[in-house]
Amino acid sequence: MDKPKQTNGIDATHSVIERSCPACRESRSIERWVKADTRFVQCESCGMVYVTEVPISFVNGEFYEDRTESFYLSEDKLQSDYDPIRFQREWKLFRRWVPSGRILDVGCSTGGFLRGLPLFGSYDLTGLDVSQGALNMAERQGIHVIREPFLEWEPSGPRFDAITFWAVLEHVEKPDAFLHKAASLLQPDGICILLVPNLHSLAIRCLGSRYRYIMAEHLNYFSARALRRMVHRIGGWEVEEVTSMHFNPVVLIKDALRPRSEVPDAERAQLLKKTNRLKKSPLLTPLKVVYNGLESVLTGLLAADNLVAVLRRRS
Ligand SMILES: [Zn+2]
Repeated sequence: MDKPKQTNGIDATHSVIERSCPACRESRSIERWVKADTRFVQCESCGMVYVTEVPISFVNGEFYEDRTESFYLSEDKLQSDYDPIRFQREWKLFRRWVPSGRILDVGCSTGGFLRGLPLFGSYDLTGLDVSQGALNMAERQGIHVIREPFLEWEPSGPRFDAITFWAVLEHVEKPDAFLHKAASLLQPDGICILLVPNLHSLAIRCLGSRYRYIMAEHLNYFSARALRRMVHRIGGWEVEEVTSMHFNPVVLIKDALRPRSEVPDAERAQLLKKTNRLKKSPLLTPLKVVYNGLESVLTGLLAADNLVAVLRRRS
């Protein structure tokens, strides 16, 4: 996961950065959830939900570096990320928009998304992250890695044909700055694909803050409307498509029955691995028909777990 290091606006007393709505820049908001010590507000202008006071450890990367070994490099998480079924939907969508070319995956972690791409086309792969342990793992998969914060990186080579942010922008203080930077690194007509948690997902509609992915390190919760608003405000992009994907009924049921302020990393990683196993089980074929139908209805309603936007850099 990428962690910008800029330090503007730091409140030294509380070690937090205070901010207004990252989508539209308005500061009028109402309280939406309080979970553990974190307060989430909703923008009165665009409806985005966000954390107003961002702890410095999320911005300078300390929080994620501490968790690299326990979560990102745990055996269960690695098995889950390297399972061919894990990025199936992402690969399908990606290759529809980007059949070949120079690809940059920002927040590439251990390289789960990139390592599968050569199966689908001729790609030149680069992964960027600041988690050194995760990048070592990605490098072992044959991926060229950049060990710098995205906003500070100044590459010298040719521009990219596509840049991806899979589950990255919900973690960063300034998601708009990430998209602005991405535009500067893409060829004219280059594609940017981003995935973020969906504020209007069935899970959040049913569970609110009981949903496990309403968590301190998720600073931003976009609706399709708020996401479009941010993209239009930044300028320089055409929105090609906004859709939603992924639905995990096991998480929904577990969190409904046993809501907790925090789910331990080990348990989250185990469940990710178990979910992949269930998806492949032949015993569950009849259930999968129902599941696939439900997921496709949720996708059509923009109510699946994550929002995905495909953006094209204006030439
Ligand atoms: Zn707003």
